[in-house]
Amino acid sequence: MRLLIMGPPGAGKGTQATAVAEHFGVPAISTGDIFRANVAQGTPLGVEAKRYMDAGEYVPDAVTNNMVRNRIAEADAQDGFLLDGYPRTVAQVEELDAMIAATGHRLDAVLCLTVDQEAVVERLLRRAEIEGRADDTEDVIRRRLEVYAEETEPLIAVYATRGLVVEVDGMGEIDEVQQRIFAALDSVPQS
Ligand code: AMP
Repeated sequence: MRLLIMGPPGAGKGTQATAVAEHFGVPAISTGDIFRANVAQGTPLGVEAKRYMDAGEYVPDAVTNNMVRNRIAEADAQDGFLLDGYPRTVAQVEELDAMIAATGHRLDAVLCLTVDQEAVVERLLRRAEIEGRADDTEDVIRRRLEVYAEETEPLIAVYATRGLVVEVDGMGEIDEVQQRIFAALDSVPQS
């Protein structure tokens, strides 16, 4: 399975991505997690990414695309993957199309989690307290939601025209949402 999980910041993508990836036996690849690991280790990539992340802005496409290209070329991603947090811009969609086409495969589905905007802000503020993420202050959260609406939400329409979108209600308990996701994805034919 080659899957994407999409939804606004705070929709619960990371939590659900792990469970879905395990279910299908593919790695969950989170660009946000890879950036955060690089920030923690102080790599040049981390130093560059941090400037954008702390402001709630997107890391430049060239940097992000390169990182994803390298990651999905690794051995564990040859039979499939679930991308969490990528693509986020039209340019990234085009790059991902090229990366997948180069392997002779295709994308199977784009899982879209829908949530209530105010609930999302509350969820993110709660997570900020628990995890202490530098990009979880209220101003930065609002900026991330704005950037999502401007740059990323339109991608759902792009994938919808390809018939790939599987929409799932992301509100409710983690287990409940997970069951909805499995039910929705189990009807997707695997390539
Ligand atoms: P996330 O954990 O997915 O919310 O990502 C945290 C931050 O990492 C984002 O707010 C961006 O600054 C950066 N980031 C993650 N994925 C991407 C991407 N595909 N394109 C650009 N920036 C990204």
